[in-house]
Formats: sequence, C-alpha cells, structure tokens
Amino acid sequence: MRLAAPQETLRIIGRYGLHPKKKYGQNFLISEDVVYGILDAAGVTKEDCVLEIGPGIGTMTGYLSEAAREVVCVEIDRSLAKIHEETLADCPNVTVRYEDVLKTDLQEIAESANGGKPMKVVANLPYYVTTPILMELLKKIELFESITVMVQKEVAARVCAAPGSKDCGAITYAVQYYAEPEVMLRVPPSSFIPRPEVDSCVLRLTAYKEPPVKADEELMFALIRAAFNQRRKTLANALANGLDYHGKKISRGAAAAAITSLGLPETVRGERLSLAEFAALADRVRFDIN
Ligand code: SAM
Repeated sequence: MRLAAPQETLRIIGRYGLHPKKKYGQNFLISEDVVYGILDAAGVTKEDCVLEIGPGIGTMTGYLSEAAREVVCVEIDRSLAKIHEETLADCPNVTVRYEDVLKTDLQEIAESANGGKPMKVVANLPYYVTTPILMELLKKIELFESITVMVQKEVAARVCAAPGSKDCGAITYAVQYYAEPEVMLRVPPSSFIPRPEVDSCVLRLTAYKEPPVKADEELMFALIRAAFNQRRKTLANALANGLDYHGKKISRGAAAAAITSLGLPETVRGERLSLAEFAALADRVRFDIN
C-alpha cells in the first residue's frame, strides 16, 4: 500500500480514529518524494535486511518492503498493530516487534533476520529520543552497515559539526568515531502530519570498518561526556569536577598536566579538541585516575 500521500494518511487516521501521540514523537510522513529520497540515501537493495525504527502507520515500511529483502520494524506503540494489519497486509517480508527500541536485543535481530551480517537502519526517528537512539545504535555499530535517519535540523548540524565549532557536542565525537556522517536531504515541516515545529534533515551515517583514531573508547567517551556536561568550564576544571570513571576521579593538577603535555593551553575548553586529541588525552590520563 502506498501511503505517502496526505489523503491516504488522513484516510487511515480517520478510519482508525488515530490521535498521533506527542509523547512518542508521532509525525507521519506524507511526501512520496521524501520517502524516495530516504530510500535513495540509504541505497536499499534486494540484498538488504533493513531495521526500521518507529514505522508509525507503516508509510515508509511499504516502500522498504518493495526495495529490501527483509524488513524488521520496532515500534513502541502497540495500538498501531491493528493499522498494520491493513497497511502491511501485502508485505510478507516485514515483521513488526512492538517494543521500545532502547530495550530491544538488536544483536538477536541481526542474527535471526540477517544471519548476523550488518543491517541497514532506516528511520524517521522520534525527535524526543533521537540522541539516546543514535547513541545506542553507535554502541552496536558492528551490527549496522549504515544508519539513514530523519532527525531535526539542529541534531544533523551537531552530528556533522567540526570539533571546535559552536555546533559540536558529545554526540559529534561519538558519531565521528564510529561513522562518517552526511546530510542527504533537507525536509520541511509540511512533509509531515502533524507538522513538527522544526525543520528536518535526512542524515546518513556510514559505519567505519576501523575507527579513525586508536583509543581506549570507554575512557575517551567518559572524558568527552565530562567535558560537555560542563562545556563552559575549562577542560581541566570540567574533568576535575565531572569525570567519573567507574567511581574513579582525576585531580585538577593531573588533568591540567595531561592537557598541557599534548601542547594544548591549560585553559582550553573541551569543544576545541579534535577526536585525535581526546584519544591522546585518554592515553595520558590512564594512570592519573584513582
Ligand atoms: N515512520 C513513520 C513515518 O515516517 O511516518 C513514523 C515516524 S514518527 C516520527 C516516530 C515513530 O517512532 C512513531 O511511530 C513512534 O510511535 C515510534 N517510537 C517512538 N519512540 C520509540 C521507541 N523508543 N522505540 C520504538 N519506536 C518508537
């Protein structure tokens, strides 16, 4: 069923008395051009097993079903199941699991639906939980070949920001450690029902086979989190106040010494550091935390 037209979505909404749930970030796509743009960006082929997060009423799912070999959807809103019985009736290669994607065993899906090989994620993400979902996917990046997602414009800017620029944040480093990000499409509010209050972008993250820098990942991301939890502070102060690595801390003096040993000023803020500098910092502070 081709649902990506306003009248089709309105028909489904009317027929099932559906009230899109704000608490689940339900903004349904009503533009076929955008759906094709997403499929194009994701490069979905008949070889692919696609993980769709939040299929909603199944708008993109029908198109994914045609383009892919197998589609596994994870949808938190169980009340949409009766709609899927109609909208996904002709999609034998689609399975929907009604659960929170943040609690889903994604490894098990990759194994059962794709013989353990990496899947492609395609999703129009719920905006209230975009960052936790992206972080969860990045933690399990070996399960994915690429992640093509609709996000709000500001999140796309943050993900693609250069370290040191005003847009960068902890997620900039997390994404850029695991994947190469690219904005593929800009999408206006008029492409959804109901209209979101923000502009959107389709972002594609292509997983790296090897991370671009060598690092003690866990410690490096603990440093990055501490730096950005208090981004107005100098990095040395943010680490002394905020680093918690399995209950271990670092003194201000040790943090400052490690920072200056990298040739950085003692007063530098975390947002000025490149990924390689955070990796080097993790290496330097390893024996200073206790
Ligand atoms: N894919 C549909 C479309 O493009 O029209 C709907 C996209 S809507 C922006 C986000 C979808 O994610 C909703 O269907 C919502 O119920 C679902 N969702 C929200 N939180 C979720 C979660 N934690 N796990 C799985 N699905 C979730």
